[in-house]
Amino acid sequence: MRLVLLGPPGAGKGTQAALLSEKLGIPHISTGDLFRANIGEGTPLGIEAKQYIDAGKLVPTDVTARMVESRLAESDTEQGFLLDGFPRTVEQADILEELLAKQGHKLDGVLNFNVSEDVVVERMLARGRADDNENTIRTRLGVYREETAPLIDHYGDRIINIDAEGSVEEINDRAMTALGRS
Ligand code: AMP
Repeated sequence: MRLVLLGPPGAGKGTQAALLSEKLGIPHISTGDLFRANIGEGTPLGIEAKQYIDAGKLVPTDVTARMVESRLAESDTEQGFLLDGFPRTVEQADILEELLAKQGHKLDGVLNFNVSEDVVVERMLARGRADDNENTIRTRLGVYREETAPLIDHYGDRIINIDAEGSVEEINDRAMTALGRS
């Protein structure tokens, strides 16, 4: 199964992706995690990405897409993957479509995690990540609204809506049911 997870920052995509990855037996690929690993290791990619991440802005698409392309070239993705945090713009969605088409593949679905802005801010402040201060949160929500939310229309009938308020288990049950795997 080749799935994209969509939703505002703080929607719990990462938590759900980790659970779904285990249950579906496909890797969880988070662009945010890949960037943070690169920052931790002090790689050139990490050094370039850090300035954007700290400001709550998107890392340039060419840098991000190259990182995703090399991750999707690894053999553990052959049976599928859960992409968390990519695509974040319509341009990135087109790039993903092309990458998959080259391999003769396409997406099976796009899980859209729906959650109110109040809950999102609460969840982000609770996890206390370096880029989770109030200013950056506001910037990231603005970026989501302007650049990422249009993906919901872009994907149209490939969107699978999930109510992402409630407990981790409840949300996971809803996602598994929506995928026909419960
Ligand atoms: P996340 O862990 O998904 O919340 O991502 C953390 C930060 O990494 C974002 O605020 C962006 O600065 C950057 N980032 C993650 N994914 C992307 C992407 N697809 N395009 C551009 N920047 C990204």
